[in-house]
Amino acid sequence: MQAALRHQAESASLAAKLAARIAAIGPLSVEAYMEACLLDARAGAYTSRQPIGEQGDFVTAPEISQIFGELLGLWVVAVWQSMGEPRSVIVAELGPGRGTLLADALRAWRVLPNFIDSVSVALVETSSVMAEAQRKALHDAPVPLRWYARLDELPAGPLILLANEFIDALPVRQLVRRGTSWRERLIADDGKGSFVFAEGSVVPEDSVQAALGGVAPEGAILETRPAATRLLHELANRAARAPLAALIIDYGHAETGFGDTLQAVRGHRCADPLASPGDADLSAQVDFADLRGSAEALGLRAYGPIPQGEFLLKLGLGQRRERLLEKATPDQKAAIASGAMRLVDPAQMGVLFKVLALTSPEPPPPPPFAPDRFTLSS
Ligand code: SAH
Repeated sequence: MQAALRHQAESASLAAKLAARIAAIGPLSVEAYMEACLLDARAGAYTSRQPIGEQGDFVTAPEISQIFGELLGLWVVAVWQSMGEPRSVIVAELGPGRGTLLADALRAWRVLPNFIDSVSVALVETSSVMAEAQRKALHDAPVPLRWYARLDELPAGPLILLANEFIDALPVRQLVRRGTSWRERLIADDGKGSFVFAEGSVVPEDSVQAALGGVAPEGAILETRPAATRLLHELANRAARAPLAALIIDYGHAETGFGDTLQAVRGHRCADPLASPGDADLSAQVDFADLRGSAEALGLRAYGPIPQGEFLLKLGLGQRRERLLEKATPDQKAAIASGAMRLVDPAQMGVLFKVLALTSPEPPPPPPFAPDRFTLSS
């Protein structure tokens, strides 16, 4: 209760801070607003509290079923094998949340001593509150763990990277089509205590935005994600020097489209993204077509996106579910079955969530994109 009250006060102070910033320098870009709401040092949704789980704002796949992290753990091992089992490999997770995915992956690795001896885990996390939760979840990990604030701080060498519901939390810019140009969508102060959307000046466009401008109706909104582009550059740089495979899982669309997908979730309910900054989780859909196209243009190999349901079923979700059910009590059985269903059901997370794999040129396609080359086993 006290924590909730304190957070409400912090949210009010973030609103005041943003209003003061707008008074001083003018309206903020959607990108700057989203960044402040999520990561403001005192009052950001990730920096001031832990928003994931039944008690928080939203639940993610690893929190729904242990099968998710276990299968991703086995995917990592299959990729390591396809790289020729390097004696030293870094498994990195971007934005590891409560550390649940890694804890489940580590359980899958315990029966693979060769892999355990070769791996060190890198947790790329910007929030010290989240890093603390990860430390607790992984206190008995049998492999070295290191925390980094940014991906470019990781040591060189073979890298296998996981990013679940990370890209959706990277800030988006929104561009609005007006006439033959794109204008920056902004967030202004209405002078009565509320934030409102506004439009700024014409922005320079890249070739993709210029091409999309040709088909965009008047008033269309295009979202771009500069931080995701920077991430792809970093992956491409590393892939030019050492084997690399990255698995990106998130909610989003397979084709680039127009529209405002900025969404706020507070206490598992949709909220107004402009009300109570810092007091709700903000995210926006991932544009998988853009990620894939940009990655390929930088020399990475891309596989997918495919629906999360298809990905997990091909990796063996059904078999793992049966194994767990055999050992479970009646109460556990219901939770195991409904958790597994939620991940793959097209009406739940099975289709909205998608999986894209990016690799350096050398390793063969990762599972399940080359299904007959690998069998995942536990
Ligand atoms: N992958 C987790 C959590 C997703 S929530 C899961 O599936 O449960 C997003 C996570 O990314 C949080 O841990 C948040 O603190 C972290 N994060 C958000 N922006 C970040 C950034 N720019 N750099 C590093 N971590 C970030």
